[in-house]
Amino acid sequence: MDRVCYLCQELPPDGDWSLEHIIPNALGGRWKSRSLLCRVCNSTTGSEIDAALCREVGWPMNMMGLTRERKPVPKQVVTLPDGSEYLRDAQGRLWPRHAIGYEQLDGNQVTLSIQARNRREARAKLREYEKKYPGKIDVEQFMSSLTETVQPHRSPVNFTSSGVGSSAALRAVAKIAANAFIEWGGLPDQIMECISFIRGESSRQLVRWYYVDEVWPDRGDMDVTHVVALRAGAPGEGLWGYVELFRIYRFAVQLSAAHKGPIVHRDYVYDIGQKRVVTDAQPVFSPGALDLEDGGVDLEAIRAVGSHMMRIAEWRSLEASFGEAIGKAFTEAVAANPNATTEDLLRHLHTYLDPVLLAVIQAGVRRDGSR
Ligand SMILES: [Zn+2]
Repeated sequence: MDRVCYLCQELPPDGDWSLEHIIPNALGGRWKSRSLLCRVCNSTTGSEIDAALCREVGWPMNMMGLTRERKPVPKQVVTLPDGSEYLRDAQGRLWPRHAIGYEQLDGNQVTLSIQARNRREARAKLREYEKKYPGKIDVEQFMSSLTETVQPHRSPVNFTSSGVGSSAALRAVAKIAANAFIEWGGLPDQIMECISFIRGESSRQLVRWYYVDEVWPDRGDMDVTHVVALRAGAPGEGLWGYVELFRIYRFAVQLSAAHKGPIVHRDYVYDIGQKRVVTDAQPVFSPGALDLEDGGVDLEAIRAVGSHMMRIAEWRSLEASFGEAIGKAFTEAVAANPNATTEDLLRHLHTYLDPVLLAVIQAGVRRDGSR
């Protein structure tokens, strides 16, 4: 029998299979298959449900400076302690959301300063002030005095993230488990109810949060992982999937309530920071008689993993800043003198490293509350 697309149960016309990421590319997933979904189902589920999941749980990509296979990681809205909002790129640099102008009044003197993402925005902002203060502003002179700066930012920022757990996002979680099941040789017939759920045709909830047990108690302190584990034991216990995203978000998926065998025990563990599949991990996931009706959200658990992730993110971003500074200094030193000595290198290193160190020190002071 020819293999069919497991979602629409059709043989793709002209063998028009598409490349399905088992865990979405936007979440840094790299495991993929060309024999799961037809092009139509891939693009429909991509825009309808994967997009919702990525919107809701995708922020660690930016926060941890992770990379994905296709397209750069999008900038993320963050809020500084003073309430101002910026866009943060995956290198940890902050960009104004729009051009910002500051006016400072001193007697009958007004001092203007402008922050913008590029010269075009700066000029538009200046035109606004030109209207407000007719004949007082020389736009071209102001433009010629603009300076471009890139400043590493180390003080705490808050990531603005939307709620998690929309029904579209939960369907996308079910698809991750179903993708893995089919890819590992399971038959669509065995998980029909789950397939209806992914297609949005079943009202029964088949996905729940899973913080019942820590599935991998001896995991590395700095590891950030995606996990897909499938389990089916004795008949009557059902076929279950465990899906973990960025270590924080943990779900159980009921692939089939009526699984009659065989026994299933498969794991996929991906270290997203190191970009490697972990082969010696043995997640302990024993769904037994897990109750789907029980919401299973443990806010304390999410918060604890979340703050642990913040520490990992800080470390990763600090490491990246140092790496970048050293790289730039080296390039510059060698460009100036192909036979640059260590001493030459050090001179250039100060230029790039000092701002990073200063930012770290300032952030430390601020966090102690002593400023
Ligand atoms: Zn299809």
